[in-house]
Amino acid sequence: MNSTADIHFNSDGVPVSNQFDDIYFSVDSGIDESRYVFLQHNGLPEAFAKLPQHYEYVVTETGFGTGLNFLLCWQAFVQHAPASCRLVFVSFEKFPLSRAQLQQAYQALPQLQPLCEQLLAVYPSPEQGCHRLCLADGRVTLDLWCGDIEDQLPQFIEQARGQVDRWFLDGFAPAKNPQMWQPFLFEAMAASAHQHTRYATFTAAGVVKRGLQAAGFSVEKVKGFGRKREMLCGQAQQSQLPCKQVLRTDAVTVVGGGIAAATLTLALTRRGVPVKVVSNGIADGASGNPQGAVYPLLHAETTPLSQFYLQAFSTAVSYYLPWRHQHWFDSGVMQPGFNPQRRQRAEKIASGLYSEQTVSLQTPAQADAAANLAIGQPSLLYPAAGWLRPAPLVKALFDSAAAELKQTQFEPADVQPHTPTVIACGHHSAALVEAITGERPSLNPVRGQISLVRATPATTALRTVLCYKGYMVPADNGLHCIGATFNRGDDRTDVRSEDDQQNQASLADCAEQPWAAGLEHVASRVSVRATTPDHQPMAGLVANKVYVCSGLGSRGLTAAPVLAEVLAAQITGGLQPLSSDALARLTPR
Ligand code: SAM
Repeated sequence: MNSTADIHFNSDGVPVSNQFDDIYFSVDSGIDESRYVFLQHNGLPEAFAKLPQHYEYVVTETGFGTGLNFLLCWQAFVQHAPASCRLVFVSFEKFPLSRAQLQQAYQALPQLQPLCEQLLAVYPSPEQGCHRLCLADGRVTLDLWCGDIEDQLPQFIEQARGQVDRWFLDGFAPAKNPQMWQPFLFEAMAASAHQHTRYATFTAAGVVKRGLQAAGFSVEKVKGFGRKREMLCGQAQQSQLPCKQVLRTDAVTVVGGGIAAATLTLALTRRGVPVKVVSNGIADGASGNPQGAVYPLLHAETTPLSQFYLQAFSTAVSYYLPWRHQHWFDSGVMQPGFNPQRRQRAEKIASGLYSEQTVSLQTPAQADAAANLAIGQPSLLYPAAGWLRPAPLVKALFDSAAAELKQTQFEPADVQPHTPTVIACGHHSAALVEAITGERPSLNPVRGQISLVRATPATTALRTVLCYKGYMVPADNGLHCIGATFNRGDDRTDVRSEDDQQNQASLADCAEQPWAAGLEHVASRVSVRATTPDHQPMAGLVANKVYVCSGLGSRGLTAAPVLAEVLAAQITGGLQPLSSDALARLTPR
């Protein structure tokens, strides 16, 4: 878990750090100062206006704080850059402000209110690692790296060589926070630089000037903002700097009609890539269930898989935000500790491994209140999680991607040698990849049957999703989705009455409450998940120009958006949202 900010607000409403005894932005005019130092002295927004089509502009900042620099950069970018260009704003933050602290800080910035609200709606839990948040219909991306910059920067730099256009050096003053202004920072700046990389910083401290010069940057001392005497700006001057290219926008074929294909199609078309989607049907597999939960899969110790799902969850919330209250409901997800092992696990998970914004332990009485139904057990609550209506959501994602849709069977022979193709058709991906590459990927089918049961006066009150061995979703149009069975190696889709009984029994056993017994069965639906041996989804290249995105298991709705960003970055040459290590765990090989 990450540390959080220890701050107070001064009489002007400006946040002040108690840890560093320094302010987050200027008392006189935070907005003017930020524009003067970070935009103007980085040649912005003029450089935005001159960008070639399909350019992914990367700004990297040290110290996210209130996000003021980000908000101003976002505003200038959408005003000045060509519509086909994207902004990826990367920022590092060791002590993230809470949402409530941000809200209070934004009261001093009424001019930026619409952007502040959008940021607040997707602001993630302060878990370590990169949280990719897609804003402004995907035109603006915030990669918020939580954790000490010294630990996080190396993971970012692996993906960012030659990619960063501008650096905003905005830690607290070097005298108050010397740890942040060390050679590792200047060396990373050099590794990320291309021929036109520039930087600006509010400070003119000697240690910063010498560090930048030693790393190969020119250093210009210019007049500081307001009463400040001097600040620094300059550009990369190392020999043999790479030349940054625009995104590759060759047409791509996406095979599949579920959540993986839909989010990927959207991620690609947002980057200007024409996409042809080929699928037998839309949302006719596991993504066609009437309801599905979205929440991070956490272990009782920090594992790469938990880390992946924390990151995936943040991206998912930002992807689904436009459909909030329509197809996406952030109702919270509750995991009752229905037996001693579960209770022990819940206690471990809530013992400080994760932030309270991600998950917290509720007493039985608190659990009853949060669920609005008798739970009667200590339970984990994921307050930002919730549930989706997958089928209309998948359709909405395809609609907003405006891709060409071909409802037909895709054959291995349809692969065009020069057109990148992504196989994203759930468990059917295995046979298709094998037919194309000669090698079968380790994807296994797991059959799942869900049951729809009629809500009773008692269960209608349920507010959060309940996850036990199975799950139960709050009533939608008078029906609850409960499920799902889990039959490894079975890919048959016949409805079985014993599976409906099992769904009911699992609910009744775990809840041990009168409301959970004898719910009226209304309908059933069967679909097949694709799983991998290590539970990590599979996303990456399997042959020349052929990619796969599958193995999303029971967590497709949570995992798909970040996988879409990973594949879209890989196909177009943009910035990756994950470390090399995390990416390696996703590769099919
Ligand atoms: N750019 C911010 C804004 O627009 O509001 C203001 C940044 S504030 C002056 C400096 C930030 O650096 C603080 O939010 C602080 O928590 C963060 N910080 C300090 N030490 C850090 C470290 N070692 N790693 C990452 N962030 C750090």
